[in-house]
Amino acid sequence: MVIVKRKTLTLAERLYLPEILRGMSITFGKMFKPKITRQYPEEPLPTNEVTRGQPRLRALVDGNLACVSCGLCEAACPAYAITIDGQETDRFIEREPEKFEIDMLRCILCGFCEEACPKEAIFMSTELELAGFTRASFKYGIDKLKRSTEELAPRMEYIKRINQRW
Ligand code: SF4
Ligand code: SF4
Repeated sequence: MVIVKRKTLTLAERLYLPEILRGMSITFGKMFKPKITRQYPEEPLPTNEVTRGQPRLRALVDGNLACVSCGLCEAACPAYAITIDGQETDRFIEREPEKFEIDMLRCILCGFCEEACPKEAIFMSTELELAGFTRASFKYGIDKLKRSTEELAPRMEYIKRINQRW
């Protein structure tokens, strides 16, 4: 038979005073340190050209999309989030998307579509927020995806710099 000799606890130890005081000292120590909690959405997340937000389509100065409906982004998308139907056009690019849809519930913001595009037509934006009441509302068509070249310019410059490294 093994006899375990137990330590005799003091009154303070029986009242958990050392643990309570240690806990309170940590609480008071943290109370007066600068707060790091972000008060979202009043304080939005800072974004810059490196931010890989939701993909957006670039419009040219004439308002038409830079996309030639080649389908490379659709093929590169690992989440099968992109659906494109192309059509012929009289413009110099000859083809354009009749339908360009990204299912934002499928999109994993990987950026493969941006890398695959040969026409600088799709870029990752700084738009991170996503909310909706129905699944269908997360299927973004051209009207929701289209952004001006100016809006996407910082990201375009960043991607150019990255590509020059290679
Ligand atoms: S970011 Fe990735 S997952 Fe989203 S549409 Fe582009 S390739 Fe597909
Ligand atoms: S890869 Fe670029 S040009 Fe081709 S379909 Fe996608 S966005 Fe359009």
